[in-house]
Amino acid sequence: VVPSEIPANWEDEALKAQVVASRTYAYYHIMAARKHSSAYDLDSSVLSQVYRGIDDEKTSTSRAVRATSGEILLHEYLPILSYFHSTCGGKTVSDSLVWKKSSMPYLKGVRCGYCSDSTRYSWETKLSLGQIRNCLSVKYGVIGEIRSLSFKKKDDRVTDVIIRHAGGIITLGGNDFRLLFPGDTIQSLYFTSTQVSTGLILKGFGWGHGVGMCQWGARGMARKGFRYRQILRHYYAGVHVGSVGHTNIAATLKEREPNR
Ligand SMILES: [Zn+2]
Repeated sequence: VVPSEIPANWEDEALKAQVVASRTYAYYHIMAARKHSSAYDLDSSVLSQVYRGIDDEKTSTSRAVRATSGEILLHEYLPILSYFHSTCGGKTVSDSLVWKKSSMPYLKGVRCGYCSDSTRYSWETKLSLGQIRNCLSVKYGVIGEIRSLSFKKKDDRVTDVIIRHAGGIITLGGNDFRLLFPGDTIQSLYFTSTQVSTGLILKGFGWGHGVGMCQWGARGMARKGFRYRQILRHYYAGVHVGSVGHTNIAATLKEREPNR
């Protein structure tokens, strides 16, 4: 359930920020799955089962879990969809530019500037036209020879891809395009492309979707002396920290049935 973890030897404040983000992420999804049942059914034992993956034998991580016990991120009294990713590459991106149906007020792109220590901060890859065609054919069936490929961008991130091939035109969202390729072929949507005779050379920044908390940025902020709540508030606009066990929150959740 915890989408990805960070090394246990990272700074305590970065670990705490990650624990609260992961706990909130788990909580949000439990709420979504149980939106038809009573919020009072949710107790901390359910939660701890869900994210026990993060609470392993590693002392530093367990300490971060205990130090932030029960804390989750709230926006207008509701748990937030606390996306996070490895490395933003300099600035994060609004959710709506990555997932067209998503538009959370607390998932707005912010300047980062703390993640340049990441080994994935910048990258370069070459895509051959054959490779692009093969990956497209998995989703679109056999397609003709590729004539041209163009990237629409907003805020320096690719939002849409338009491919003209011998048999027609394919348009798809940037993230859908990225995910057509295996593994980390395209590390992020924050890239520029150069056409060469056999394909494209992509030069980009960051690793992951770029939405929400930048994990390497959280570490960079912790190293500069920021506390975990400051880190979280930097990446998630307008949120505050609440507690899972707080009765008022449970009541509010029950009343408003989030995530519809
Ligand atoms: Zn960053």
